[in-house]
Amino acid sequence: QELPADKILENSRRQVKEACFSYVTPKIPSKPSLIHVSPEMLENLGLTEAVSKTEEFLNVVTGAEVIPNTKPYAMCYAGHQFGNWAGQLGDGRAINLTEIEHNNKHWALQLKGAGETPYSRSADGLAVLRSSIREYLCSEAMFHLGVPTTRALSLSLSGDDVLRDVMYNGNAAYEKGAIVSRVAESFLRFGSYEIFASKGDAKTLKTLVDYTIRNHYSELGEPSKDTYIAFLKAVTKRSLDMVVHWQRVGFVHGVMNTDNMSILGLTIDYGPYGWLEGYDQGWTPNTTDNTHKRYRFGTQPHIVLWNLIQLANALYPLVEEAEPLEEILNNYQIEVQLELQQMMRSKLGLKVADRNDIQLIEALENVLQLSETDMTIFFRNLANLEKENTENWYATIENAFYKPEEISGEIKLQWSSWFKTYEERLTLETLSDAERKSEMNKVNPKYVLRNYMAQLAIDDADKGNYDLIDEFFKLLKKPYDEQPNSEKWFAKRPEWARDKVGCSM
Ligand code: AMP
Ligand code: MG
Ligand code: MG
Repeated sequence: QELPADKILENSRRQVKEACFSYVTPKIPSKPSLIHVSPEMLENLGLTEAVSKTEEFLNVVTGAEVIPNTKPYAMCYAGHQFGNWAGQLGDGRAINLTEIEHNNKHWALQLKGAGETPYSRSADGLAVLRSSIREYLCSEAMFHLGVPTTRALSLSLSGDDVLRDVMYNGNAAYEKGAIVSRVAESFLRFGSYEIFASKGDAKTLKTLVDYTIRNHYSELGEPSKDTYIAFLKAVTKRSLDMVVHWQRVGFVHGVMNTDNMSILGLTIDYGPYGWLEGYDQGWTPNTTDNTHKRYRFGTQPHIVLWNLIQLANALYPLVEEAEPLEEILNNYQIEVQLELQQMMRSKLGLKVADRNDIQLIEALENVLQLSETDMTIFFRNLANLEKENTENWYATIENAFYKPEEISGEIKLQWSSWFKTYEERLTLETLSDAERKSEMNKVNPKYVLRNYMAQLAIDDADKGNYDLIDEFFKLLKKPYDEQPNSEKWFAKRPEWARDKVGCSM
């Protein structure tokens, strides 16, 4: 909703009514400088490399200059945080600059860390270099892994210092401020709808849902009660796809609050996320979620359902019938299990579906957790197994074990027994060893942004050296390819990096 002209530059904190967004002005950074630009995103937006080298580009992606004839805005949303209703949240440090059409694609361009908005509550609207590097590198890496995600166009320094409580030593300290310009078809979240349902504002809710359908789900047809049901179904499908990809690559989001669930099924909000090193269903990178571990790896598919239930509740006033919504949510529970099984089959190089596969997969998940076993290395090395030679299993996957000395006695027996079953299972398949390997290597990445890799890039960047950012950016563009010069990044986490994950804020 439009504010009167004299109010449009108002960034002050407030509760906002009947509005999906508020106009804001990005904070002018003291001394902006570019660290990195994504060539793919430049191209997607119809921008040239030459443009990215201009002062105007730098100014726009750091908030120093507003693009003529545009009105930046922050979006209003609410959300359930860690299972509790949190009321109005909104873009506290994200500002939408403009929307861009190129090659029949629609993109929203957003700055993260460009200052206060009406939704900043008690925080400063800023972002630090550490968390910005993590978002910049990971979101582009996820795209190249084939995971639906928001993208990143640029990473910059603001030239301002930002005060932060660094979680691992408990002291407040100044850190370098940074700004990521990020891009997505839309940044609407489940919480964008929840806020109006919670206020009983069915009118604005309908306006927003109709807008979403017309602009982002136009294949569903003109808005109507049936379309709203189809909308939930489509969002459910996309969210399901997203989380199955997360489980495939070992990504743990860390803050799956409903305000961090994209209405387009994109991975959004790269905060305290982490990558599984040792395969562990119970692991979360989020140190603030250590007691209940609500958002641990193994519960992610279930949390998506929990979040979809909140979305269904929010859409209910437009549908006024619980049954069709419940049916969609019930189907999710069945479909997600089937999709997860199919995904695990693909990781194991299995083309045929066999009724004993569930046991095979569960047994593997068990045995993987008996002793710390690197997920990425395990699946990548598993592709090297020869059908006729599976008694060599240990040599094939040995590199994946963090504590090889533990792979003896009972644990070794359990591994042998799993490989025996896998060997028998492979006899149902027709692919040759080479074909199976090639199929497996398409779904089991060789290179992911291991937590300590991001940390190394951060430590160097803090000293003004951005080489590792560029090296990882390039490496992670081809996560499934063999890259012989980068073999050192296909390695277990070094011991010094155990439990060290850069934190979110
Ligand atoms: P998150 O946990 O990252 O999803 O953030 C939850 C809410 O806090 C969202 O409304 C964010 O916009 C807001 N928020 C997070 N960090 C900041 C910050 N530094 N300044 C203002 N708002 C923030
Ligand atoms: Mg968020
Ligand atoms: Mg965040």
